[in-house]
Amino acid sequence: MTRASLAIADAAPRPFWLDQPGAPPPRPPLDGVVEADLVVVGGGLTGLWTALQAAEEGKRVVLLEGERIAYGASGRNGGFCAASLTHGIGNGLARWPDELGTLERMGRENLDAIRATVAAHGIECGWEETGTIDVATEPHQLEWLAQDAEQLRRFGWHAELLDAAGVRAQVDSPTYVGGLWSRDGSALVDPARLCWGLARAAEAAGATIFEVTPVDSLAADGAGVRADAAGGRVLARRALLATSAFPPLVRAVRRYVVPVYDYVLVTEPLPEDRRDAIGWRGRQGLSDVANQFHYYRQTADHRILWGGYDAVYELGGRVAPDRDQRPATFALLAEHFFTTFPQLEGLGFTHRWGGAIDTCSRFSAMWGTALDGRAAYVVGFTGLGVGASRFGARVGLDLLDGADTERTRLEMVRRRPLPFPPEPARWAAIQLTRRALARADERGGRRGPWLRLLDRVGLGFDS
Ligand SMILES: Cc1cc2nc3c(=O)[nH]c(=O)nc-3n(C[C@H](O)[C@H](O)[C@H](O)COP(=O)(O)OP(=O)(O)OC[C@H]3O[C@@H](n4cnc5c(N)ncnc54)[C@H](O)[C@@H]3O)c2cc1C
Repeated sequence: MTRASLAIADAAPRPFWLDQPGAPPPRPPLDGVVEADLVVVGGGLTGLWTALQAAEEGKRVVLLEGERIAYGASGRNGGFCAASLTHGIGNGLARWPDELGTLERMGRENLDAIRATVAAHGIECGWEETGTIDVATEPHQLEWLAQDAEQLRRFGWHAELLDAAGVRAQVDSPTYVGGLWSRDGSALVDPARLCWGLARAAEAAGATIFEVTPVDSLAADGAGVRADAAGGRVLARRALLATSAFPPLVRAVRRYVVPVYDYVLVTEPLPEDRRDAIGWRGRQGLSDVANQFHYYRQTADHRILWGGYDAVYELGGRVAPDRDQRPATFALLAEHFFTTFPQLEGLGFTHRWGGAIDTCSRFSAMWGTALDGRAAYVVGFTGLGVGASRFGARVGLDLLDGADTERTRLEMVRRRPLPFPPEPARWAAIQLTRRALARADERGGRRGPWLRLLDRVGLGFDS
């Protein structure tokens, strides 16, 4: 057995965040006919932020979740809650250079509002603003960090470049050659506890939540909508669809969003001597900056969550529980972990899981309406929706209200991303792109002709 397979041998095949004491009991499923102003489909962060904000406005809200609250990406992610609404400043600059100043301000306000909500409702989600460090593990990445630092500063964020010794003084890995420490603009959270707390807050504001209620169809009904599930029906004035990478109830979403699987490991709690061996007393959120990157952070009980690298798309875009487990990826991740932290050799992983990311070609949220404006959808956050979901939900509510706001006037909101081609070209293009990204990593970051073409037309693939 290799050190990697040994380390993951006893890992439980479920998300660490959902496997904690204190998980709330399931709410009953929908049973019968219920009327509402707004029906929200999906009980992840987007649906929950929608429900909370709409209930706070006095709307009668019903939220329907097919499984359990936080069952999807929202209960499986790394818990990096970033201010950026655009999957980073670089992506924002490439797509919306003229309005990025506004988007960054809105992102800052959004993060402030999340912090305030967490405090106001006493949501114990391990909120910690310990900053992030992006680490370079190859010399060519130092230039990228310098460019990122300049962009962060340009938009008013803290950015401190670290040399190899500087970054290793924070977190000691022999693979690091430099780092970019940003002390603001993000928080780390326990995402499941955030969801559970938002659900409670939404209910306290008057919303009703039904779990284990997959919605089979959504249709116009008079001036409103009808959401049908096995046990009942919700008749509402409006619907907000927050179903992320799952099969959508509105066909148009299929063109813009593909489910890309991302995988995560969590270690056993590190004893004091192991913690001493790596430093990391600042508990920053970390990620490396290759095209195929890892993200990692500590949990409240001193485990390390370690995820990323592989971003897996399957022909046909199936989303199913059997896809949550991928032994080859777990072994690769474990091997990379011990390469990064050889001091931790012998440490075991207790959890391994995967989740579907709603990847869209511009790597950030998109909005649309259906059923003559009676329904809106908010999808496509790609790998950075923990914070942006609140903003996404707010815009979705604006669109349903027909409100003309600074948000709805954004080009980012008005413009659609480029659609993905239909299958099997979709699958072939994504495989080609994944291979090209891996090759670029091997060749000092140099992007080949395929990636340069995608860059030119504004199509992309990321996790
Ligand atoms: C492994 C992984 C790591 C990630 N790491 C980060 C990170 O560190 N930081 C970050 O910002 N983002 C991260 N992300 C992305 C982030 O988790 C998502 O952007 C965010 O959680 C999206 O929330 P959501 O509510 O839109 O989707 P989801 O949480 O997926 O919620 C959708 C919900 O809709 C329900 N649903 C679907 N169809 C129906 C139906 N027909 N009827 C009823 N219910 C339905 C599903 O059961 C699900 O609960 C990560 C994602 C993954 C998978």
